[in-house]
Amino acid sequence: MTTMHHPRSTLHALTPMGLDTPGVESLSSYVCRLAHSHGMTSQKLVDWVLAHFEHTVCEKYGWHQRNLSSMSAESEQWAAWLSELTGVPALDRLTLAPYRHLLGTPGLAPRSDRWCSCCFAEDKQRGEVPYLRLAWDIAPVEACLRHKVYLTSVCPHCQRSNVRNRAAIVVPGYCTACGGFLGDGVTESAIPESLWMARQVGKMLAHRPQVGTEGVVPLLETVIACMAEGKIATFASRYGFSKSGVWHWLRKGGLPGIKAWLTIALHGGIGLDQLFAGEVENWEMPHQPLQLSIALPESPRAGIQSRELDWEGIRASLREMLALPTPISINEAGERVGVGRKHLYLRANAEARAVADRHRRHRAATKQQRDDQLRAKIEALLDERLAAGYEGISARDIWAQLDAEAQSVCGIFNHISAVLSSRYC
Ligand SMILES: [Zn+2]
Ligand SMILES: [Zn+2]
Repeated sequence: MTTMHHPRSTLHALTPMGLDTPGVESLSSYVCRLAHSHGMTSQKLVDWVLAHFEHTVCEKYGWHQRNLSSMSAESEQWAAWLSELTGVPALDRLTLAPYRHLLGTPGLAPRSDRWCSCCFAEDKQRGEVPYLRLAWDIAPVEACLRHKVYLTSVCPHCQRSNVRNRAAIVVPGYCTACGGFLGDGVTESAIPESLWMARQVGKMLAHRPQVGTEGVVPLLETVIACMAEGKIATFASRYGFSKSGVWHWLRKGGLPGIKAWLTIALHGGIGLDQLFAGEVENWEMPHQPLQLSIALPESPRAGIQSRELDWEGIRASLREMLALPTPISINEAGERVGVGRKHLYLRANAEARAVADRHRRHRAATKQQRDDQLRAKIEALLDERLAAGYEGISARDIWAQLDAEAQSVCGIFNHISAVLSSRYC
């Protein structure tokens, strides 16, 4: 058993709600709760994080305009930053970023902010803090599977929309305009089609996709092989896609939108989670025609490669790096295992933080050593001067007698005055 050094986190190590379940929390919600736990506004927390990572802050840019739960590279960056600061791994699971190489953007983002009144009411009833679900930020999800009701987008107290989290101060579950509880709304029962969509997306969110970038085209080829005997034209006309659209997916790097994937799942009788896991080996179409079962053995499953990295192996390598005689930086460690710093913090958090912390301590110790040597030089100059019968020496004179390397040290005059004042005060 390896004992890990766990450096203390800069921000509270808040546990995300509903991780690995269809009800997983969104990163926007996490930011609100994290800010609250530090007694800050969400805006202030976001500005602080940007300043911490030395990004310029635009005063007029509201934190909620960043859309932290989306599929963008920015969302992924935020997840990595927050994982780094809280020590909580896998915060990208609170965003749609892990699906970026699988999902096209059109039709993904809803037009306005939605929520399930019953979820908020239930959170509150259980004595828990209401939180926002990531599924609510996916347009085709119009219903809550748990409560079998439609989502709401209007505050039941002030009738305004977009009042869920578009403000500097947000308490999830309460209207940002009037402060009323958003769980008070009257709900309407959802139809089975809406519930089916919610179930599919929920299952998708509960699992990290296993099909990597290179696996998408082979996956689509398998889909077309199973659902249309490998014929693009048949596939397009049978399921209502444009032929050029399907061609674009296969040859031009286009990606099916969430609705297209749902169409495939519906007609193919396969879960979105299974598709994205690449679990298509034993896929059988519902009411499969007889001739298809003869053609199927040649389906191009063989081309599917999962780009899933061996995280156990990467973690082990990072632990080995902790034993290197000279500590290395997290960027250097990332280069050695072929994974960026961002992903190390997301997927191998404890190890990444231990490597970074060891390097930081090493750098601090090295700096201390350099400072000590520098001060010893200054002391020696001063002693020489006093031994030669002088009353004292000015900081500038000392500086002039130092070698070029010492002269260029940042804050050199602070070092000199520190030595001088320790002698004469
Ligand atoms: Zn609900
Ligand atoms: Zn309101």
